[in-house]
Amino acid sequence: MIVMKFGGTSVGSKERFEQVYGLIERARQRSAPPLVVVSAMSGVTNALIESANLAVRRDLEGALNQIEMVRNKHIDAVKGLLSKEKADLLLADLNGHLAELESVLRGINYLGELSKRSIDAVSSVGELLSSRVLAEYATARGMQVTWLDARKLVITDDNFGKANPDWKEIEKRAAQIAELSKKGSTVITQGFIGSTADGVTTTLGRGGSDYSASILGVAAGAKCIEIWTDVDGMMTADPRIVKNALPISEASFQEASELAYFGAKVLHPLTIKPAVEKDIPVKVLNTMRPESEGTLIQSKPSAVFGKDGKARSVCAIASKKNITALFISSPRMLMAHGFLAKVFNVFDKNKTPIDLIATSEVSVSLTVDSTENLEAIREDLKELGELQVLHNTAIVTVVGRQFRERSGIAGEVFSALKDVNILVISGGASEINLSFLVMAEDSDRAVQQLHAHFFDD
Ligand code: ADP
Ligand code: ASP
Ligand code: MG
Repeated sequence: MIVMKFGGTSVGSKERFEQVYGLIERARQRSAPPLVVVSAMSGVTNALIESANLAVRRDLEGALNQIEMVRNKHIDAVKGLLSKEKADLLLADLNGHLAELESVLRGINYLGELSKRSIDAVSSVGELLSSRVLAEYATARGMQVTWLDARKLVITDDNFGKANPDWKEIEKRAAQIAELSKKGSTVITQGFIGSTADGVTTTLGRGGSDYSASILGVAAGAKCIEIWTDVDGMMTADPRIVKNALPISEASFQEASELAYFGAKVLHPLTIKPAVEKDIPVKVLNTMRPESEGTLIQSKPSAVFGKDGKARSVCAIASKKNITALFISSPRMLMAHGFLAKVFNVFDKNKTPIDLIATSEVSVSLTVDSTENLEAIREDLKELGELQVLHNTAIVTVVGRQFRERSGIAGEVFSALKDVNILVISGGASEINLSFLVMAEDSDRAVQQLHAHFFDD
């Protein structure tokens, strides 16, 4: 059995649902029925979150308008896919979910309070709707299908908005997936959503459907996890930033993880982690161009050769904006021990991961992605030295192979960046990653210049 995960654009319209059905049918002809994990239709999760924000700002009408847009988007898709009779039955079902959502929004509006738990209750609805549409359509086309509620499969802790899987529970519950597949059924479920052991809805974080696919794939013993999206695979750069970015045919688990972590949105940063442990290959494929090769991510990828016939040392360039940099300087650090431990303690205490770090004799520069606890961090750090905070920066990352064994990569990187001011450099911690910090407005230019240097023949 394999997992096929379809992203928002892949289920964005009537035509896309038809295309997805065709891909599932093709997979069924090749081997056992797949486990299908679907995202919400494109734009729906954003609209749902917006509805919650409007509701809490006492704009109930605006909130309900968002819900109408979501309803109409699904009505449009369903109309073209099903007979009137079947469409009416399905729409009654979708309206049930939307009615529940409306009462949550009225509650948020009435109380003027929006907790992370309520945001999860609201944002989880998109996947429930899209997966119902796909399941009913596939059934109408004659496919044997079982729709499962991911909230009964993906049990998580109560870290709303970014919940963590409870592997033991998930493994127990996912056993039925392989059984159903053996009996000829295509299991269709939702990405992104889960629930606590007590049945309270949670989400795995934005873009989390990829993570759901790998969690469920690993727990159900899948032999491959396919991520079907709207581009030809993982590419040498974000194609929205670099027009001539190239698809990468093969990447290692580590390369793909680094790229995802440092901003390649095509994969949720945690997708690869479960797959590595069970050594399950992950493929990134294009729903709109299924004939394209895509990217195969596995433990030992083959070397990638450039047009000059030489093995490429750089795999791809990624960037991540909205980064906050903190610069701590303290003469007390000079020759002292334990200073860095104190700095790390502050971030640990405030539950904030550090992305990049660089140190000198008397200063530490580091970056964080989340500013949720920044005020508390600021207060704590002030006790350790002088603190400067810089917002609107970006991390640019060059991911490649065996950088430590290859001389001159750093030199090449920095000479390619003709007029970009580099604020912090962090390389060497990983053999395959060289990252640096720039102002956000310089980030795209830096990616373009690096891409031109390493990939334009
Ligand atoms: P889905 O809805 O299928 O999950 P996403 O929008 O989450 O799709 O991710 C796919 C998008 O990721 C692409 O359309 C592309 O714009 C963006 N992207 C960013 N970096 C990369 C990269 N290195 N390779 C491929 N796509 C990338
Ligand atoms: N629908 C969710 C989001 O937009 C999850 C996903 O697409 O992966 O974040
Ligand atoms: Mg995505």
